[in-house]
Amino acid sequence: MKSTSRSARSTRGIRRIDLAYAELASSESARDINRDVVLEIIRSQQPVARADLARVSGLQPSTVSAIVAQLIDEKWVKEGQIARLPRGRHPALLSLNDELVILAVDVRPKQAIVALLDLNGRYLAREVVPLVSDPDSAISKIVLCMEAMRVSHSGRSFEGIGISMPGRIDPDSQRLILAPNLKWGSYDIKEVIEKKMRLQVELMNAANASLLAELWSGKLDGIRNAVLITVSEGIGAAILANGQIITSRSGLAGEFGHSPIDPAGPRCGCGQRGCWEVFASSNAALRYYAELRPKAPAANIHELLRMAEEEDSAAIEAVSRQATCLGRGLRLITAALAPEVILIAGDITTSWARFGPRIQAELESTMLAGKAPQLGVTSDGELARLRGAAAVVLQRHSGYQRMRLEAAKKSKSKRPARSSRA
Ligand SMILES: [Zn+2]
Repeated sequence: MKSTSRSARSTRGIRRIDLAYAELASSESARDINRDVVLEIIRSQQPVARADLARVSGLQPSTVSAIVAQLIDEKWVKEGQIARLPRGRHPALLSLNDELVILAVDVRPKQAIVALLDLNGRYLAREVVPLVSDPDSAISKIVLCMEAMRVSHSGRSFEGIGISMPGRIDPDSQRLILAPNLKWGSYDIKEVIEKKMRLQVELMNAANASLLAELWSGKLDGIRNAVLITVSEGIGAAILANGQIITSRSGLAGEFGHSPIDPAGPRCGCGQRGCWEVFASSNAALRYYAELRPKAPAANIHELLRMAEEEDSAAIEAVSRQATCLGRGLRLITAALAPEVILIAGDITTSWARFGPRIQAELESTMLAGKAPQLGVTSDGELARLRGAAAVVLQRHSGYQRMRLEAAKKSKSKRPARSSRA
């Protein structure tokens, strides 16, 4: 099978080619798959010669040359250094074109991190923008920061904007439909920013963005089933099942943070009481500390974690309680999905040596059967969401993503008029 090369699927990086979708592929999408395979091999093995691309992908050299010509034309790839091979051949090597840049934004309830990255994931600029709760002024501040980055890097070619959001985004409308800790309603972030920046905007849930960053970095190579948990103001989750990021109906899959743990527990941002996140988020740790030291509450989670590292007993107690609740809640995940790997992202990972073992112990003590999943932290720490936001823009251009959109359109047109969202 030449069109979706088996060997290319075993190279590092995200598994963007899945046979479930490949079966739906028309000949046009098969071309997209090949383009995607070639781009992925260049990304993971750069600088690389055309002959090696053909060998690794299993594609015909003429097919590789045509795809490379297109990628160079679209500025994704550039020809660079010359390889010195025996018998006098000196082929030009191909790399990603890092003149092409992406704006990435990690939106959180109180701040946004705005960054400029090149195609190789290198940060060219990064800034923290404090936010207020009103979406209009929050977006204006983010746009001002992006405009300043565009001016200071005016020699570069801007490809698009990727935004990680602390909530769920409906894949059809691209509107935020659930963000209990942000409270922006159904504000149309995409339309407002696209109008102001004149660049295409991609939105993604923060946990899914972090998972995408892990997949792009190759850290989950060989893993087909994983769950990533983001621990910040709330708790988010992203699911990799059979090699695919699962978003499901209206993009709402993975809301384990709002599983009810204790109906008599504190009120959650979602309106219910006693959700997992009110016991296991960073805000929960701050609340535990305030209960222990009511006269001197910690200003924020970073301060609390610093105090814990400095052996403040109440800080250690507060974060330990959070870690215990986090570990206990992982039973929801292992029982529902039985992943091979669970990755934790967010504040608590900065003190992983101290609190990780507690989470691990809780996870192991609640297994129904078999070995506990491998527990770890994301490789980029606080920056995983940003890197994921940039990866969303890159992914938009992959044949796989286009093919998924086509498949989604097809299945929608087959659906009876009485839609479940009506
Ligand atoms: Zn809730």
